[in-house]
Amino acid sequence: MLTFCLLASVVCAQSIPATSNCPPTTAALYARLRSIGLDQQRVYSVRGASIDRPNLHLVLDDGTLAFTEDICGRITGAFFEGEGEVLLRPPNKVERRSLALFTGMAILEEQFSSAYFRFNDDTAASWQPNLSPLPEGSEFAKNWNDMSRSMAESDSLRLLLDFSHLFPIPGGMEPEREFPRLFHAHLQGKKLGGFELFWDAAAAEPLWAGQIRLREGIPFWDVWTSFKPGAAGAAGAASSSTSDVSIGSFRIRASVQPPTMLRATAEVDVLVRKGGRRTLLFELSRYLKIDAVRMDGRPLDFIQNEALEGTQLRRKGNDLVAVVFSAPLETGQKLKLLFSYAGEVLSEAGSGLLYVGERGTWYPNFGLNPALFDLEFQYPANWTLVATGKQSPTTAETAGMQASHWVSEGPIAVAGFNLGKYIRAEAKAGNVFVEAYGTAGVERSFRKAPAEMVQQQPVFPGPRTPTGMVLASPPPPSPARNVQAVADKAAHAIGSFSQWFGPYPFGSLALTQMPGDLSQGWPGLVFLSSYAFLSQQEQNDLRLDSNGALLSSLVLVHETAHQWWGDLVLWNSYRDQWFVEALANYSALLVLEQQNPAQFRQVLDKYRSDLLSKNKEGEWLHDAGPVTLGPRLISSHFPGGYEAISYERGTWLFHMLRCMLRDSEAKARTRNGPAHPQEPFFRVLQKVRERYAGKSVSTRELIQAFEEELPRSLWYENRRSLDWFLDGWINGTALPRLESRDVHIAPKEHGVTVAGVIAQKDAPDDLVTAVPVYGVTASNSTVFLGQVLADGPETSFHLNAPAGTYKIVLDPRQTVLSTLK
Ligand SMILES: [Zn+2]
Repeated sequence: MLTFCLLASVVCAQSIPATSNCPPTTAALYARLRSIGLDQQRVYSVRGASIDRPNLHLVLDDGTLAFTEDICGRITGAFFEGEGEVLLRPPNKVERRSLALFTGMAILEEQFSSAYFRFNDDTAASWQPNLSPLPEGSEFAKNWNDMSRSMAESDSLRLLLDFSHLFPIPGGMEPEREFPRLFHAHLQGKKLGGFELFWDAAAAEPLWAGQIRLREGIPFWDVWTSFKPGAAGAAGAASSSTSDVSIGSFRIRASVQPPTMLRATAEVDVLVRKGGRRTLLFELSRYLKIDAVRMDGRPLDFIQNEALEGTQLRRKGNDLVAVVFSAPLETGQKLKLLFSYAGEVLSEAGSGLLYVGERGTWYPNFGLNPALFDLEFQYPANWTLVATGKQSPTTAETAGMQASHWVSEGPIAVAGFNLGKYIRAEAKAGNVFVEAYGTAGVERSFRKAPAEMVQQQPVFPGPRTPTGMVLASPPPPSPARNVQAVADKAAHAIGSFSQWFGPYPFGSLALTQMPGDLSQGWPGLVFLSSYAFLSQQEQNDLRLDSNGALLSSLVLVHETAHQWWGDLVLWNSYRDQWFVEALANYSALLVLEQQNPAQFRQVLDKYRSDLLSKNKEGEWLHDAGPVTLGPRLISSHFPGGYEAISYERGTWLFHMLRCMLRDSEAKARTRNGPAHPQEPFFRVLQKVRERYAGKSVSTRELIQAFEEELPRSLWYENRRSLDWFLDGWINGTALPRLESRDVHIAPKEHGVTVAGVIAQKDAPDDLVTAVPVYGVTASNSTVFLGQVLADGPETSFHLNAPAGTYKIVLDPRQTVLSTLK
């Protein structure tokens, strides 16, 4: 044992034999991990104990410390009271700025007065030299025991994964093995209040700090900073770690009993890419409870755990499920797991209209991992069910129930279904079959049209008003009446997108009504908000303002665009999620631009003015953070930050890229020959579609595809590179004010030369912007002269212009996210 410990010092630095005090079952071990108390025999006075990791230094200067009771001979936690200090240095600008937004400090330097630590490594042993026993310490341990027990819960599942190898396996104990180190500190800061700090070697970004903060009674996880130390990239980017296991296929048999009940078995084929683990984690809606997990007919231990308050997982409505195997998994092993589960995962929103899927995932899954799906549903005969995949012919009805069977045509990342008492319409886009499904009414919670004063009708029963008028409401909206228009509009969008991005990626598209104002895209299936089913008249009745009506009419096309961006081409990590939303949104705007250029401008203008609004604390919305912070943008400072930044700023970023490439290329072509039949923006996107179909793409890879089409005039410092765009615009929050001054126009042999200075104000000093400069000629027409790569606060420029040019204007077509003067 001792020899082995020297070899694997990471996991067995503690001296107590591993047999003592060890719970006999998984459930018992888990129960103990999640409520472990303080050990009255292990209370010390502590001086100068520290934790050092790259970019992190934490020290317990002086105070009292009690370790938690041991579990299987291991100490996994401690409570500290006294004087301590933490120093955390984010490695780059993006993370320093994020930290500063929440703490007012670009480098975290904070004293704390108490702390609770949880760890899976040799932390307890490493502190021994700094500890001296405190004979009267049992009182301290008693006082803080309840608090420690309640804090033990948050890491208990993770520790279970690490320690599950402690159970006997057939033929004796499993050998010790290494697992990623975890150190989690809950600190009571003197200035910042309670906050948390993580070092988790298993995470793509191992070091992070944050805080739960309430805003109007709602808890938010404010992620102050998160990164991989040593990652040189501007964003300290998370790489999607290739996981140890992947799911190849699902075979799900579900019985649906409206309005709420789902009962299902899911057969999940798992491939073990890297062996050694004994536990796998799945996500599943918290409304579904697992009865059993089986492998080869034998039941497996499992634990279903509630996600923690305020986390992303919690917001999605999911629980974590740990499945524990009787022996460590082996590399290359293929597992067939059978989950049976049931629960009220659907909710009724109105007659014939259900919410499906808003309550988390309806089958056990992990990550975004393309797999094959074979789905069979049983449901009452008077309902219509639509699911992802290709439908096999419906089997006959029996006893008022019917069945339908759906098989994916290739690997897809997620599978869903929707059911309702629908009216159906169909349309075609080339050979793509489009169907729309809407119910006769809308959800109970749907916004009510305001009543209007109308001329009194003698027979009309209504509340009478003194003037002899009656107050009457317009008829309630009916999505079923509008299904044909929905199908036609989606078919039209598919036509345009196929031309721009390449062929529609799935066999067909079904759009089904979903209650609420959110929509959701699945491969070949869209859950479309009831609001997107409204006719023009119904929108008028609801008094949606012109922006509201415009935005709700974009939803359908936005969701259709997700079939390419989000369903076919996936995003890599949370830092890349923005481009899927932004690109789907910009795609919808491109369709609008063709139909109504003025409305296209109206939407872009609205986005800009949103970004220029301020929150209650007086902070600019556009300073919530760069698009690459993804869901971290949802914070107590900016609850709507994710939507505003990834959709609105993100849309502007694609507009900038498109116009920049188009205008430069058009200028080059007028000199050098005929124009390419297709805009460079679309050439890039077709390449992205081909290169990354069925795969995930990072922001960096996406930008590389744009660099390949980058015209010479947009090379910065003589390099074919968009690093300047990535640094300043994608990983930045800039919304500069652009001005020209000191402009001189001088005649030359052919035409004139224009010289001057472009100033960027309200912008970081290192911001580079491609500013389109136009000349105004004697006949008052504006002529594109070229792009000036404005670099920092002031940049002088020299351009040629046609004879008669008497002044210049910057970006008259508003292709740059800026305020102009
Ligand atoms: Zn979207």
